[in-house]
Amino acid sequence: MFVKTVAFKTIRDLDLAGKRVLVRVDFNVPIKKGRISDTTRIQAALPTLRYALEKGGKLILMSHLGRPDGKVVEELRMGPVGEALSQLIGRPVRTAGDCVGPEVEQQAAGLKPGEILLLENLRFHPEEEENDPVFSKNLARLGDLYVNDAFGAAHRAHASTAGIAQHLPAAAGFLLQKELEALDRVLHNPERPYWLILGGAKVSDKIQLIDNLIDKVDGILIGGGMQYTFFVAQGIGVGNSPVEKDRLELALGLIAKTKQRGVDLKLPMDHRIAQKIEPSAPTRVTEKPGVPEGWEGVDIGPKTIEAFTQALQGARTILWNGPVGIFEIDSFSNGTRAIAQAVAQSGAVSVVGGGDTAAAVVKFGLVHRMTHVSTGGGASLEYLEGKTLPGVTALMKGRG
Ligand code: AMP
Repeated sequence: MFVKTVAFKTIRDLDLAGKRVLVRVDFNVPIKKGRISDTTRIQAALPTLRYALEKGGKLILMSHLGRPDGKVVEELRMGPVGEALSQLIGRPVRTAGDCVGPEVEQQAAGLKPGEILLLENLRFHPEEEENDPVFSKNLARLGDLYVNDAFGAAHRAHASTAGIAQHLPAAAGFLLQKELEALDRVLHNPERPYWLILGGAKVSDKIQLIDNLIDKVDGILIGGGMQYTFFVAQGIGVGNSPVEKDRLELALGLIAKTKQRGVDLKLPMDHRIAQKIEPSAPTRVTEKPGVPEGWEGVDIGPKTIEAFTQALQGARTILWNGPVGIFEIDSFSNGTRAIAQAVAQSGAVSVVGGGDTAAAVVKFGLVHRMTHVSTGGGASLEYLEGKTLPGVTALMKGRG
């Protein structure tokens, strides 16, 4: 059933004992002035790292952090990440001064089984994002085996996610495997009824996702900033709400397509509105679809919450991508919270796309009530759009 994930080796297929295991992790955590506000991504890599250590591997970890754009940015050094990892994994973690070069090679060569070396931020070198062949080769010199567990970076063809796999026996880590299996589950043979919940800022970001899934789902719930383009396309005013004026035809086309295919498309029937996007702004609820002049839709309204919740009650599979309101502001977060609760209570197989939707589920404390919350926003979106991920393709073509 998991068509795509059987095509490459996983870490279980590698003999790790005494080997330098070079693992591409996604430790791109939110960090400000050396303080990490969310360690989810580090925790997500722990099963792979613990397994490699148990099997007697010497761990060399590499990741990017933020967007240093090919130069050294002091605030984006991996030191604090190493400390956080050390606490979580309960072992010392050494940090390297760079991610390539003779000094790092020496450090890697001197590792004993069970020891961990964390390389410096890969994106301090422009060659990383350029997938530079020499840089890939220099990274590969640090290890005997290559494991990619960085699902969040798998949609990028970079040296550490793509080029490197040509030089070493390559395999997927447990996180990468788990992510792909969860996404494959909603892409191939999902149990019905299958509901797709879409929100987020723009309809243009979600078109390819809708196109890829329209023949698979039974219903689509639309909220968030993207809904207003659908209303304007149907001649309903939305005040100051965000609208993509160049996507009106597209919105109408999508409405027609869902009708044609018998997909139950539900748009909000009421809205929570505000005059300003700020926490102290007073809000009102509209009686019907549409937003009055001078106001902006910031969340779905109570009637919509009820209708959407009811639809989700019968679902056997739910895929959720995009918050249905500006959930970052508490007074605009009721709709997104209610949807998260409805998904949790539905008993359906529930897959939450990464990025902001994952952040919302974290905020409401419901991560463990979902079947899968992706650690990669961009990567999960591209995979669900039907694209192949360069990091995954590289493992299929990889050596050994
Ligand atoms: P995306 O990355 O496309 O999933 O968009 C997520 C963002 O959409 C979040 O930061 C939300 O605050 C935002 N969003 C959700 N609902 C609305 C809305 N009604 N108006 C403007 N932005 C929204």
